[in-house]
Amino acid sequence: LPPAHVRSPQAADIAALLPGPGAESDKYRRGVLAMASGSDRYSGAAVLSVGGALRGGVGMLRYAGQAGVVAKVLDRWPEVVATVLEPTDPVAGLPQRVAAWVVGPGRGLHPAAVVELRTVLGTGLPVLLDADAITLLAEEPDLVRDRSAPTLLTPHAGELARLLPGVDRADIEARRLAHATRAAAEFGCTVLLKGSTTIIAEPGRPAIVNPTGTPLLATAGTGDVLAGLIGAMLASGLAPRDAAVCGAYLHGLAARLACGGAPISASDLLGAIPAAFRALR
Ligand code: AMP
Ligand code: MG
Repeated sequence: LPPAHVRSPQAADIAALLPGPGAESDKYRRGVLAMASGSDRYSGAAVLSVGGALRGGVGMLRYAGQAGVVAKVLDRWPEVVATVLEPTDPVAGLPQRVAAWVVGPGRGLHPAAVVELRTVLGTGLPVLLDADAITLLAEEPDLVRDRSAPTLLTPHAGELARLLPGVDRADIEARRLAHATRAAAEFGCTVLLKGSTTIIAEPGRPAIVNPTGTPLLATAGTGDVLAGLIGAMLASGLAPRDAAVCGAYLHGLAARLACGGAPISASDLLGAIPAAFRALR
């Protein structure tokens, strides 16, 4: 099936890419990740994406959001350094001194989210955009085109269709590799297209098909876990393509291991990420 210009990594490739930790590690060197996910309405997206990053090996997670969702994140993950954002000034409290950003899952499409997105993309840091952030980006695609720092988009087919004028979801499903490659070229960034096969495309590089995917992942919240998992890899200093490849590989492996092939929830998936790491050693 995969043409010659498509690669598919093996376990040993992933193990070689994965960052430490080593004896010289500390929480800052492992990577500080800032996350703008979830909202009072979609607090689960925050809890799951934060969990993906923590299980992915982030050194420190700095979360920013509305008061209600901050309380839920801290209740589940007390190790998070959290900030409550003021409704009147959505950017004043955004985390500083971080290595990378994850923006979008469950965040909403309101005006404050637009201001937040512009602010994060205005930094010189690696940024992962997922879900609502991708929908907002469709209105202002130059926000990504104009960046010199790396950007990684993690759309499903519907989200990618919003970014590509004149293309609908069915077109993308019919030619997933071609559309992921085209989007990467048009936006000048890395694109991880989710779905029945997960494809990672980057301008000028061979596309990658993740070999561990499973339809067990087709359940609400698993994409939020993936965003956090990849965010941890980005914050550790991996290039976006490598971060996406490692995150997608571990995500699929965790889904297979979580319940021994029985249906999983996104929470089960989170719980199985350590087993996926162990399986690579
Ligand atoms: P999202 O669309 O953000 O909810 O993310 C869903 C996750 O499940 C992504 O990692 C997808 O790649 C994965 N997924 C969804 N449907 C399938 C499928 N039919 N086969 C394999 N993986 C899937
Ligand atoms: Mg999603």
